[in-house]
Amino acid sequence: MTIESALKTLTKTNVPPNTNDWSVEDSSVLYGLNRWGENYFSINQKGHINVSPKGSNNKKIDLMDLVQELESRNLKLPLLIRFDDILEDRLNRLHEAFQQAINQYKYKGKYQGVFPIKCNQHRHVVEELMTCGRHWNFGLEAGSKAELLIALSLIQDSKALLICNGYKDERYIETTILARQLGRQPIVVIEQTTEVQRIIQASRNIGAAPLIGIRAKLSSRSSGRWGASVGATAKFGLSIPEILTTVEQLRSANLLNDLRLLHFHVGSQINDIAILKDALQEAGQIYIELNRLGAPMQYLDVGGGLGIDYDGSQTSTEASTNYSLQNYANDVVATIKECCEANSIRVPTLVSESGRAIASHFSVLVFNILSKSVVPAKIPSIKENEPLIIRNLRETLALIKKISKNTEVNSSQLQESWNDAIKFQDDALSAFRLGYLGLSERAMAEQLTWACAKEVVERLSSCSLIPEDLKTLRYRLAGTYYANLSIFRSAPDTWAIDQLFPIMPIHRLNEEPKQLGHFADLTCDSDGKLTRFIDNGQIKPLLELHELKPNEQYVIGMFLGGAYQEVMGNLHNLFGSTNSVHLRLTKDGGYTLDHVVRGNTKADVLEAMEHDPEALLERLRIASEKAIQSGNLKIGDAQRLMDHLETSLRQSTYLHE
Ligand SMILES: *Cc1c(COP(=O)(O)O)cnc(C)c1O
Repeated sequence: MTIESALKTLTKTNVPPNTNDWSVEDSSVLYGLNRWGENYFSINQKGHINVSPKGSNNKKIDLMDLVQELESRNLKLPLLIRFDDILEDRLNRLHEAFQQAINQYKYKGKYQGVFPIKCNQHRHVVEELMTCGRHWNFGLEAGSKAELLIALSLIQDSKALLICNGYKDERYIETTILARQLGRQPIVVIEQTTEVQRIIQASRNIGAAPLIGIRAKLSSRSSGRWGASVGATAKFGLSIPEILTTVEQLRSANLLNDLRLLHFHVGSQINDIAILKDALQEAGQIYIELNRLGAPMQYLDVGGGLGIDYDGSQTSTEASTNYSLQNYANDVVATIKECCEANSIRVPTLVSESGRAIASHFSVLVFNILSKSVVPAKIPSIKENEPLIIRNLRETLALIKKISKNTEVNSSQLQESWNDAIKFQDDALSAFRLGYLGLSERAMAEQLTWACAKEVVERLSSCSLIPEDLKTLRYRLAGTYYANLSIFRSAPDTWAIDQLFPIMPIHRLNEEPKQLGHFADLTCDSDGKLTRFIDNGQIKPLLELHELKPNEQYVIGMFLGGAYQEVMGNLHNLFGSTNSVHLRLTKDGGYTLDHVVRGNTKADVLEAMEHDPEALLERLRIASEKAIQSGNLKIGDAQRLMDHLETSLRQSTYLHE
């Protein structure tokens, strides 16, 4: 046996087997999965994430195995996996929660929801919701003319509502009037005073009226990221004086009889249930007044805002909610019932426009890690006649190493040594600039400084009080995991509004993650990174991750991102949409891929920017002909270049190993 092969077997046997006392339960707690996973996500004994598309007691799918099966169908990462059973389950749970509340409070009306299309306009998503929501007479909410087209064509149920929000011109309003004659139930919600006149005009043009709603600008307080959706400065809605004027205008145009709905929306992701209660009370009173003014009111639309507990902390912090779905339904039902009963007014059909709460759970984004950065903290071997700066750094390192890791550490001692290290490192830089230190010596200085940092950090856990300065050292030493992903495309809210999503490896969860790291994406934008992670009501800048293994994929999942992300994602750096699949469980315990939506090719994204892939190829062909003629490029190599370019245009914008 050669020494080399002996070394190889040695290192192999030195790899610790998975017999440490780390369990999958530890991972579940560490990543908060036990808190945010609801009934849909858990960890199996292989250390992989299990998905239970129909809730915990049903069939489970091993997410890592699934990813491998999809990859062997040439559906490469990054990949968006949509579990349509989860979408259906969320829809059912929302309706069941309202039904339960209606029974409990003996509410004499019903609940009838709509899905706000802007939350996820994807054809298969909206179609799926229309199919599984049919027996609930589930409808849609449109916020633009294009969304109205989707809603008009997809709602086939004459009882389902079509709530028309957003800016409206006359054509928008005329379309809704005609759709009413088609047998649909569109309700035009007046969001701005200027729309009243347009509704009156459109009704005169056609000689028929639409169903009309009013969006109230509530003065109840709000909070959270979308708090500005209410109050005097809100973008939409009518103030109380404006509501009164509107009612009179409708009355004189003979349209008051078509005013049926009152709508409010206090903003997305309501964190604190108290906010909803205030809004409900205020809206309840306005509803009663509208009845008194003579409108045959029928619907109270409480808008969206039903929140998601992204970190599972059940708190009123931004990534969480201090209420459950059932609490929400109970409050809506009980508050409105109380309001109406006290005034002897028939209770309305309750409508909600919950988007986030329906669409968040069902899609999981999985991406692979391409590589990981490491700080160059290897201690360089001692050379003869080392410059003083290098010797100083070596001495500092030796001093830090002398401090025991196990007993209580005096942090001022660590701080002092670290200050020295920084000082010597600065000296090394100055000396390099002035030409006294060579490149290899500068490299040694850097390595020794990083080695000092590492030793300091290893002793921090034994300090009773960690100085701020030293705390940041941990972050500087953390690894950057390079992700095959564009956050601008697939998780734009993490960048735009600092939203948190649960992010964690989907395998190796029976191994203790001993590294700390964050993610950098494929874009050349320094903002293209994920550096904020859920931490049970708080936020942590680093995530516990595993060391990469050679020749083995490390696969990360981002969860609860089914609402808003995909559509708001953009083509920054020309990274296009990822592959996505829609998956359904089958009766025999397997699954089928109902839809496979291939991600954008490079030709797609070039065309989106008005480039012509064919013309682009042709220009390069001409250039390569020239190079062949001048003898700089062989014909075979020119062909090879063209093959690469042609293939590349047909392939996805992401990296493939
Ligand atoms: C965005 C929006 C919704 C959806 O809000 P969620 O928080 O996703 O439930 C509902 N109604 C209106 C008017 C909206 O603008």
